[in-house]
Formats: sequence, structure tokens, C-alpha cells
Amino acid sequence: MMNTDVINTDTLISQFPLIDDLVKLKEVTWFNPNISDLETALPYVGLNADDVADASARLKRFAPFIVKAFPETAVSGGILESEFIAIEAMQQALSAHYSAPIAGKLLLKKDSHLPISGSIKARGGIYEVLAHAEKLAIQAGLLSLEDDYGKLYSDEFRAFFSQYSIAVGSTGNLGMSIGIMSAKLGFKVHVHMSADARQWKKDRLRSHGVTVHEYQQDYGIAVEEGRKAAESDPSCFFIDDENSRTLFLGYAVAGERLKTQFMDAGIKVDAEHPLFVYLPCGVGGGPGGVAFGLKLAFGEHVHCLFAEPTHSPCMILGVHTGLHDNIAVQDLGIDNITAADGLAVGRASGFVGRAMERLIDGYYTLSDQHMYDLLGLLDKTEGIRLEPSALAGMAGPVRVSNDAEYLTRMQLGACMPQATHLVWATGGGMVPADEMANYLAKGRL
Ligand SMILES: *Cc1c(COP(=O)(O)O)cnc(C)c1O
Repeated sequence: MMNTDVINTDTLISQFPLIDDLVKLKEVTWFNPNISDLETALPYVGLNADDVADASARLKRFAPFIVKAFPETAVSGGILESEFIAIEAMQQALSAHYSAPIAGKLLLKKDSHLPISGSIKARGGIYEVLAHAEKLAIQAGLLSLEDDYGKLYSDEFRAFFSQYSIAVGSTGNLGMSIGIMSAKLGFKVHVHMSADARQWKKDRLRSHGVTVHEYQQDYGIAVEEGRKAAESDPSCFFIDDENSRTLFLGYAVAGERLKTQFMDAGIKVDAEHPLFVYLPCGVGGGPGGVAFGLKLAFGEHVHCLFAEPTHSPCMILGVHTGLHDNIAVQDLGIDNITAADGLAVGRASGFVGRAMERLIDGYYTLSDQHMYDLLGLLDKTEGIRLEPSALAGMAGPVRVSNDAEYLTRMQLGACMPQATHLVWATGGGMVPADEMANYLAKGRL
């Protein structure tokens, strides 16, 4: 949905003063006054717990295939899930640096180290490819739900899937996940990469036999071109990162998985033990889907915040103004150029923005330099190396801890010492050493 009306920045600023700071590329924090109880908010998503359970069951059916196609996943039985760890040294360093105590416990969810793509995209992107493959194979009478899906890892199935192609537009990580999984199944794959995409991601995809199309423009154009190319070919399936419910459900499975992990670790989430989850946001599918799953799993006691670069604040802009995908950051003269390539999106998903606007506690932005600083600090304190996008969530605990108005309004003040802060580390586990050295050199802390 594109709005052909010209957006008048001054009019918008007079209505929404926060936009002034966005245009000036200042770091902002906005706690959502429209947060609603679950009963009110969940129906707006248009999906429910059964849909997530269905996605979860599908991923279990595919586990035997995943083990065969990616032997490194045998340890987890073909289920792609990341661990979380406590990062106490980082918590102390953050408190010291910001002169702001972070009450409660700080944890890191390491999607950065998920197999296949080393990013959160191993959830949604891969799930949609599997769902599509299952549908084609069932329709052709080659597969039934009761089969051992290990049989999909065969020349017969590769020949079958090679009649079909898959296309996607991406800033990098989605292309990696979808490209590698599709190629393993035997599909022909076209990944349309925006200018932000790192060279090593394109190289890796090409080594898997994926056709990579490169654009000098941003993610919106790469998606549009991918969509167009796919439309002219009936055997081509376009994975629509801006609107896909399937992708969203693949991400949502994370909620119940985290709940199990927390139960095993004895971590409580209830009225006295709130859980704050900080999610880097690009187009919104990843953080939106994960937040939906978390809300289903933990109910009102989980508080989700979305984090964006100051140069690409598409979701906060869309939700705050209520214009959603009818406005892009470029309409305000914001350039959408950021080192956080996973978050370099100028126009948010209208589906996710509208579906989740009553379920997300807050949104904030941070500068690229800030992400580099946090990247360096995490390496120094914990020896964990992430890509810049994945550090966006790390600024969250301080934003929450510093906002008395929000904590009072949500009646959270008294229980903060028992709070859990979970920073979702969304990528970086596969960044080549020379690239990582460049990132680390930019950190000042
Ligand atoms: C894609 C991505 C995100 C955000 O996901 P969206 O679905 O685009 O909002 C965050 N971090 C990294 C590293 C990513 O690749």
C-alpha cells in the first residue's frame, strides 16, 4: 500500500512532536499509551494459538529432514532453537557506563548462533520455505503428514522441487536463510538483495547455487523487484517479508520454546517477576512474530520493546502516527542508511504494525555508533560477537529502568528487582573474521 499523497513533515510534527526528534536523528524512546489487555488486543492479530501450534507441529515433522540436510543440527534433533545465557559482566558494564542501575537479571537470547543462517531469520524464513515445500509435495501425492520427512532429502524430491522456484527480497539475512534452505530442498532460488547486503552473504549464497540479484537501492525496491520477477512465473513462489502470516508464525514458535527453556531453568514470569524482551526491528515480521508468540506463552507479564536505528525508524514512525505502511522514513528526509543492515528498512510491515500495536509496550531508536559501542562492550565483557543490528536490543534495559512514568503507569516499579531482561541477539554468529574486526574497531567502549 503506497500513499500517493505528499507527506508534509511540518504538519506531521505539529501533530506528533516526537517526529521532530526522529527527523533530527536523535535517539528517542516512546512507551505505548495504547497497550491493551490480551483479550482486547489479540483478536487484532487475526491469528491464534492454534495457528502457532500448527507451525510448531510442522517444524517437528521436518526435523528428520533438517538433521539429514544439516548434520550440525543433529544435537538438537533437527529443531532450530537458540540458548539463552546470563550476561552479568555486561549488565555491570552497562550500569556503569550509563550510570543507571539495571534492576533484575540480564539475559541474552542467542539467535545469533542459530544454525544455517546465524540469525533470527532461521525461524521465519526457513519455516515458510518448509511450509511451501510440504504443500507442493502433498498436492503432488508424494508426501503425507504421517511420513518420515527424512525422505525429502533425496534425489527424487530434489528433482521434484527443481521444477519450482522461490524468490525473496532481502537486506541479507532473510535471503541467506531462505536461499540456503530452498537450495537444499532442490528449489531454484532467486534472492533480490538491497544495497545494504554484505558481500560475504551474497558470496555464500552463490556458493549454494542461489541466483543473487543486486540492487543499488534499499530493501523496499529489492522486495518490489523480487515480487515483479516472481509474478511473471507461475512456478515461482514469492516470500513476502512485508505481509506474510506464514513467516510471522514461524517466528511465533519462539514463544512456547522460551517458556519451556525458562521452566527448565527455574525462571519465573508472573505479576511479581515481569519479563522484558528487547527485539531489534526491521520490517517487523521477526520481532512481531516473536512478540506474538511471547504474549501467547507468558500473557500480560511479558513486556516487549522494539529497537530501531535512528536512520531507519520505520516501525516507530508508522505506529506512532497510525499511518503504518502509508509512510516511509524517506518521506521525512530520513535516509535509511545504517550499519545495522538487518534493520535497514524504510517502510514497516503494515500487517505487523496494525496487528501488534496494542501488544508492544514501547519503541526506541539508537545510533549506529551506539550499536558499535555495545558490540565492542559485549565482546570485552562476555567474549560474544554479534553483528550491529543484534545490539539494538541492548540499549533497552536502561531505557526501561530510566522511565519512571512508564514503570508507574504499568505498576512495575516495585517488582523491578525481580525482573528478567532478555535481549534478543538477532544475528552475527557467521560474520567472517575480517568483517568482525572492522566492527570491533568501531566500538569506543
Ligand atoms: C531481519 C533482522 C532483524 C529484524 O527482523 P524484521 O523481520 O526485518 O523486523 C533483526 N536483526 C537481524 C540481525 C536481522 O537480520
